[in-house]
Amino acid sequence: MEIISNISEMKQWRDKGERIAFVPTMGGLHQGHLSLIDLAKKNADKVVVSIFVNPTQFAEHEDFGTYPRTMDADLVALEVSQTDLVFTPNVYDIYPDNAVLNQDEFTQDKGLFETLCGKTRPHFFYGVLQVVRRLFEIIHPDVAVFGQKDYQQLHIIKHFTSGVKIIGAPIVREHDGLAMSTRNQYLNADEHKIASKLHKILKQIEQGELELQSARERLQRYFELDYLELLDANTLKKITDNTSKIAILSAVYLNKVRLIDNIIFSKDNYV
Ligand code: AMP
Repeated sequence: MEIISNISEMKQWRDKGERIAFVPTMGGLHQGHLSLIDLAKKNADKVVVSIFVNPTQFAEHEDFGTYPRTMDADLVALEVSQTDLVFTPNVYDIYPDNAVLNQDEFTQDKGLFETLCGKTRPHFFYGVLQVVRRLFEIIHPDVAVFGQKDYQQLHIIKHFTSGVKIIGAPIVREHDGLAMSTRNQYLNADEHKIASKLHKILKQIEQGELELQSARERLQRYFELDYLELLDANTLKKITDNTSKIAILSAVYLNKVRLIDNIIFSKDNYV
C-alpha cells in the first residue's frame, strides 16, 4: 500500500491509466468505512482512500479540534483491507489561498443545502462539496463510493459533482442497530444503549407501528430532537403521487453528540 501526501505525486500516480475507485474519509475508520472499500474494489482496478479532516465542513463551535485522529490504526486497517493508495493531503494543499466555494452556483438549490442537517449546520454541505470537488480534481477517479448513512450528503454529491460515477453504500450498523460512526467514540456504554433507540424508532415508522408525530415524541424521551422527516427519497421533498421511494431521515443529539440515521424503502411497502 502506498501512502502519498503530496498533490503532484498523487497526480503522477494517477497517470497510470487504470480504473480508479475513490473513498473519501476523515479517518477514525470503522467497519462502515471498510465496507465502502470492499464496494470500491468491485468497481475498479485500484482503490484510493483519502484521510483528511476537512475544516470547511465544521462550524466554529463544532468538534474540528477534537475529532478523532487515529492515523496509525487507520493505516493498519487500510493495509488489511487491501487499499492500494492512501492520500493524506495537508490543508494548505487542499485549500491554497484559503479558497472558498462560490455559493452563487447554488442559489436555486439553497433549499436542499439548508434543509434537514443543513438547518442546524448551514456551512456543512458547502464544505463537503468543496472538499469532494477538490479531491476529485486531484485524483480524477472513475467512481467514488459514499455511505447512505449520510443520505443528504450523498444526494447533494450526486447532484452537484460531474464526471465521476457516484455509488451509494448501505449503512453498516452495530449489533444493536446503531449506525456506525466515528463520533460514536464520544458515547459511553450507557449512552450507546440509548443511542440504539434511534434506529429502533425509525424501524417502527417503516413498519407502520408508529406515526410520525408519535415517533417525534418518543425520540424526545431519549434525545434532543433536531429533525425527523418522511420525504421522497429521490428529491428530499414532500411525498407525492409520483414518489417511489420513501426516506425516513433523522438527526438527534444525545448529550451534545449528534447522531444521524435513516431508512430508505419502497413506497409500495408503506402501510
Ligand atoms: P466520514 O469519515 O465520517 O466523513 O465518512 C466517510 C464515508 O464513510 C462517508 O461516505 C460516509 O457516509 C461513510 N460512512 C460513515 N459511516 C458509515 C456507516 N455506518 N455505514 C456506511 N458508510 C458509512
